[in-house]
Amino acid sequence: MIESFRVMAKVTQLLDVRDLVKHFPYVQRRGCFPKKVALRAVDGVSFSLARKEVLGLVGESGCGKTTTGKMIAGLLNPTDGEILFEGENLTGLSSGKKRLLRRRIQMIFQDTVSSLNPRMKVGAILQEPLLVNRIGTAKERRERLAEILDEVGLPPDSAGRYPHEFSGGQRQRIGIGRALMLHPDLVIADEPVSALDVSIQAQIINLLLELQDTYELSMLFIAHDLSVVRAVCERVAIMYLGRIVETGDTESIFAHPLHPYTRALLSAVPVPDPAVKLSVPPTSDEASSPVNLPSGCRFATRCPQAMPLCHQKEPGLIPDRAEPSHSVACFLYDNNGDGI
Ligand code: SF4
Repeated sequence: MIESFRVMAKVTQLLDVRDLVKHFPYVQRRGCFPKKVALRAVDGVSFSLARKEVLGLVGESGCGKTTTGKMIAGLLNPTDGEILFEGENLTGLSSGKKRLLRRRIQMIFQDTVSSLNPRMKVGAILQEPLLVNRIGTAKERRERLAEILDEVGLPPDSAGRYPHEFSGGQRQRIGIGRALMLHPDLVIADEPVSALDVSIQAQIINLLLELQDTYELSMLFIAHDLSVVRAVCERVAIMYLGRIVETGDTESIFAHPLHPYTRALLSAVPVPDPAVKLSVPPTSDEASSPVNLPSGCRFATRCPQAMPLCHQKEPGLIPDRAEPSHSVACFLYDNNGDGI
């Protein structure tokens, strides 16, 4: 099923994110005088997502991937940039129209405990999106509830129970059901399996893929586990300190990683063979902070191949000449701004 999923024809763009920026105010305490600075969580991120496509957004903690997802889902307001959904800029719409469009973008959260109201029964949690949006009669809402419980693999009597009565995997099924209640076009799945046991992870990934097929969903799949990303995503964007440093088709990125950061991430993926030793390229452990970004390339403080130019100028994303859908932001490939 994964193979058929990957060869789906590309259709029109559903989502177009342009130069998205999110800066948070931050008080830096050094010496006697606290200083107000900006924490640059997301700093000029651009990508697009076609209908029925799954794009993986990958990077270590604090790289800005969840903040990007929350801005697209409308949970955070961007500092700058545009989020075009079917060509409409979500950041510039009236609240009524924004609300209508937002129904079509839903989010699945990593933390299944805090994302489900412990005082509400599962039936009420799942029907809440319909009630808030005044969709259907009471009978229709009950029918939709029974349908979604069946689709996510929960027994009908789950509706009368509280979230704490379920295991982590079952709670994630509730979260997935809630995201799908309104038949959205786009789902942002924020680390949906990283808090689960490995055996449960496989079940939830299979469920997500099945429902992605059934509902013809586009999905932004936020993750740090590259083996999960490889199984789920058609395309991947690698983020580092608020920027995308490499993007391309999943197989291309895994077969020919170009950016030193992507190579380090990939070489750290465990191989299920005790005879195989990991050979992770040497990188400094010292990651720069989004409060005090270095001048030039953001990865320069950790990069084993950093050159003097890397500390002076920030590289932009340049397409690979042989494979234009694969782009990288690194001077190893673009010393003169000529492309790779
Ligand atoms: Fe390393 Fe320079 Fe490439 Fe940045 S631009 S990743 S510092 S080689």
